[in-house]
Amino acid sequence: MTDYRRISYWLENANDDLTPRAPLDRGAEADVAILGAGLTGLWTAYYLHRADPSLRIVVVERDIAGFGASGRNGAWCAPDLNISMSRLARLHGEDAARRMQQATYDAVDEVGRAAAAEGIDAGFHKGGEIIVSRGPQGVPSLEESLAEYRRFGFGDKYRLVGGDELKSRLWIAGATRALVSDDAAVVHPGRLTRGLARLLEREGIAILEQTPVTEVRPRDAAGQATLVTPRGDVRAPVVVLAGEAYLSELEPLHRQLVPLWSLIVLTEPVSDEAWAEIGWQGREVVASTRLSIDYLSRTEDGRILFGGRGAPYRMGSPIRLAFDQHGPTHERLRGFVRAWFPSLRDVRFTHAWGGPLGMPRDWHPTMAFDPATGIATSRGYIGHGVSTTNLGGRVLTDLILGRSTPLTALPLVGHRSRDWEPEPFRFLGIRYAQWALARLDDQIDRTGLPPSGRSIAERISAH
Ligand SMILES: Cc1cc2nc3c(=O)[nH]c(=O)nc-3n(C[C@H](O)[C@H](O)[C@H](O)COP(=O)(O)OP(=O)(O)OC[C@H]3O[C@@H](n4cnc5c(N)ncnc54)[C@H](O)[C@@H]3O)c2cc1C
Repeated sequence: MTDYRRISYWLENANDDLTPRAPLDRGAEADVAILGAGLTGLWTAYYLHRADPSLRIVVVERDIAGFGASGRNGAWCAPDLNISMSRLARLHGEDAARRMQQATYDAVDEVGRAAAAEGIDAGFHKGGEIIVSRGPQGVPSLEESLAEYRRFGFGDKYRLVGGDELKSRLWIAGATRALVSDDAAVVHPGRLTRGLARLLEREGIAILEQTPVTEVRPRDAAGQATLVTPRGDVRAPVVVLAGEAYLSELEPLHRQLVPLWSLIVLTEPVSDEAWAEIGWQGREVVASTRLSIDYLSRTEDGRILFGGRGAPYRMGSPIRLAFDQHGPTHERLRGFVRAWFPSLRDVRFTHAWGGPLGMPRDWHPTMAFDPATGIATSRGYIGHGVSTTNLGGRVLTDLILGRSTPLTALPLVGHRSRDWEPEPFRFLGIRYAQWALARLDDQIDRTGLPPSGRSIAERISAH
């Protein structure tokens, strides 16, 4: 049996003994059956229950609540999507892109509001966001981001800072400029997810753990859709697929998402002297302009979390617990901590973990409900799910209840991504993109020159 405490620092420190809840013991009937007790499934159950307490809601989870990305992430609760406003505007129009961006700011606040209202000690702290350029090479990208925010009317939320202002706020070796905003928060992902699960359970919503769904069947002639499990079927007019990367394990969705690993290292609590040098008193979420992605947060107990991508995609999209450890990538992340914060050259690292992101072929998240099949889903957040899952829960609630609201008019609603290529083309394409982005980052760091924006790697990652 999996020792769930070892999955992440967040689960280990969630004030919860992680004992699995009882599994399904025979077939069950419900009004809404949800696959997955991550933040998507739990927020969907939460808002449905708030909207109509008479609904019988069942959540079916293969492991335990928070086992997936929701209990493992980098703690950023930020108003960002992996798809840019410009691209949303090209696909759906300028107004839709603007409404979408506003919905992401609202989602951050709603996570904080709901956690506080429900007494969930989720560690929500709205300290803001800092994106740094280490060296001059990232500055054009920061300026482009600011120009994009201005174009869509959000420019007043962002500021470019440098020099003493940046240094006094956050001291990172080589940082020259940064784009800062107040609109992001940091959370404790373990306490948020487990706290939400406990709240739902108290309110009478069944969370069946240790119950894998092996097949999903659309509505039959009796109007019932089915989650098939080895322990019996869960039948309901509506089923919600809230399994993110793991949905790729179900046959019809196999090519809708690829699981791509994001990995994290965590330091011991940093000494007061080092904090005096580093600053970071606002506990902002932090990243750099590197193309191959990094993300940082400061924990409540004064540790530094450094996350990034780089673990290689594996042929056929398998998902295994063993992939949460990737020595070379974890070691590279530790090297980044030492390089960014030289005063921490001797710091100890206490944790290293990771998990799969759900990556759609077009980098476009989807929130959808098809009344013909009875199947709803919210997925494809890539690295930006902590706030977006909350939005997904509210959107699915409105869709399932047949309400037409501003949320159901958002451009993510009803989207269907095209499938990934069959293997081995998927493997070759993703491995190439991973290699090319890493190489380009190394070249940018070596030369100090900004990327041209024209390389194949950049075009692949420009979303
Ligand atoms: C290492 C890492 C760092 C990240 N950092 C950030 C960050 O800092 N900020 C941010 O916004 N986003 C981040 N993300 C992304 C974010 O965590 C996810 O987008 C979000 O948590 C997805 O939530 P979810 O509920 O949709 O999926 P998950 O949390 O993955 O939950 C899916 C659940 O479904 C269950 N399940 C799957 N298949 C089945 C099945 N067949 N039967 C039964 N149960 C099943 C799983 O066990 C799991 O519990 C990160 C992700 C990772 C992996």
